[in-house]
Amino acid sequence: MGSLREETEVVVIGSGPGGYVAALRLADLGKNVLLVESRERPGGTCLLEGCIPSKALIHTVEIRETARRAAEFGLTFDNVQIDTDKLREWTAGIVQGLSDGIRGLLKRRGVTVLRGHARFTSSTSLALEGGEVSGVDFKQAIIATGSSLNRLPAGIVQSVWSSADALKLPYVPESLLVVGGGYIGLEMGLVYQGLGSKVSVVEFFPRLLMGADFDLVDVMVGQVSERLEEIMVDSKVLSIVEVAGGGKDGGGYDVEIEHAGAKTRKHYAQVLVAIGRRPNSDDIGLQNTRVKTDDKGFILTGPDCRTDEPNIFAIGDVATGPMLAHKASREGKVAAEVIAHGTAAFDNRAIPAVVFTDPEVAWTGLTESEAEQQGIKVNIGRFPLSALGRARTLGRTDGLVKVIAEPETGLILGVGMVGPMASELIAEGTLAVEMGATLEDIMVTIHPHPTLSEAFMEAAEVAAGEAVHINPPRKVR
Ligand SMILES: Cc1cc2nc3c(=O)[nH]c(=O)nc-3n(C[C@H](O)[C@H](O)[C@H](O)COP(=O)(O)OP(=O)(O)OC[C@H]3O[C@@H](n4cnc5c(N)ncnc54)[C@H](O)[C@@H]3O)c2cc1C
Repeated sequence: MGSLREETEVVVIGSGPGGYVAALRLADLGKNVLLVESRERPGGTCLLEGCIPSKALIHTVEIRETARRAAEFGLTFDNVQIDTDKLREWTAGIVQGLSDGIRGLLKRRGVTVLRGHARFTSSTSLALEGGEVSGVDFKQAIIATGSSLNRLPAGIVQSVWSSADALKLPYVPESLLVVGGGYIGLEMGLVYQGLGSKVSVVEFFPRLLMGADFDLVDVMVGQVSERLEEIMVDSKVLSIVEVAGGGKDGGGYDVEIEHAGAKTRKHYAQVLVAIGRRPNSDDIGLQNTRVKTDDKGFILTGPDCRTDEPNIFAIGDVATGPMLAHKASREGKVAAEVIAHGTAAFDNRAIPAVVFTDPEVAWTGLTESEAEQQGIKVNIGRFPLSALGRARTLGRTDGLVKVIAEPETGLILGVGMVGPMASELIAEGTLAVEMGATLEDIMVTIHPHPTLSEAFMEAAEVAAGEAVHINPPRKVR
């Protein structure tokens, strides 16, 4: 460890989509900023082993799937092949290019980047381990340390894949068990299915994607279940035993699974564990500050992203709220603005969530199940993609868009969708919720024809009882 100490106005810990965005914004607002990162490259989980590499792989297998489906309208491709070496190289190139881009942005803004693992020694000082500088004295700090993978309980074999391992495409196993039916498990499971593995999914809860509305999930599950070997819900992994070295050239894994009191033992060539993530708050010296966490370790903050220690802020996965890159970046901007001029708040009405399965699932604002749980009366309009011209021309009628509105005013409270391009279309729903749009606002907005975006307008018409393209309830004569 080096013996140098640095001084700065603001230190940001972590260079993920929360931390690097906060650092750039602070620099633009005239602050002297220092960014500490324990990894070699900037970009955090999202860029290095999350959002970006996963979507590059998903895009590739989706092209293959689209080619397969195209046979339905007379377009056949001979022998579509995926070269995994080339795909690995392409994905790594995207990650490297974007990481170099972040490094360049930080450099041009004059943000000093230090390597090392940071721990608070007081509310105005950090110790750094593993770099050339041993400590930093600061006036204000932003904690953007993100999250780490949850592991299976001790005693269950540890040599299986994490999502980070799977993203490196070590090889394509003949069969793969994905433990965890959340978005990461499903996305990675479909990647490996597209690459040629026989993929099964086991989920502890009674449904896949527990946070999403059932009607949306059901459409997605109906489609992906054709591609997966088995989906086991309400099922618990009791043990994973490595057979003859496990892994690539070995014998794989025997997995004991319990469902409804019955235990079965199944064999898989590889196992991928995707059972959620936990905040990186336990090894950063919070005990030397007044920063508080909840019982799961998420740092508690106010709407200004400030912790219980007034000069320390927390953003992104390490703070409470959804663990999503765009939430981290928005909070990064809020914290930077509060530090620079005192006025900003994370007062967003909607944080979109997207699951990049095929079809994609996306929602924003209030969900139907949240409305039910909270006893909020809502008016819901659903429009099926089977009634939409553009969906038919794409050969993708598997989906729907629903709008959730306040019955008296038509104020749009939430939007949910499942279908192709839901990841892109949800942005309009988020804008509608954020700007306080009503059903009428969406209905009178001209949507280009023929596009998938029309489904949002159509769903608003259904909610308002003015649908043109689906039949109104039959009139009693
Ligand atoms: C497979 C996968 C796919 C995902 N896909 C999506 C997606 O499609 N869309 C989406 O919105 N989100 C996605 N996520 C979640 C997303 O990656 C996170 O929400 C996001 O990265 C959080 O950003 P952050 O800045 O809070 O933390 P991170 O990105 O985790 O960055 C934290 C950084 O802090 C560094 N650090 C930690 N502790 C210290 C310390 N003590 N000292 C110095 N440095 C430290 C870490 O090395 C890391 O670089 C995905 C995650 C995974 C795993």
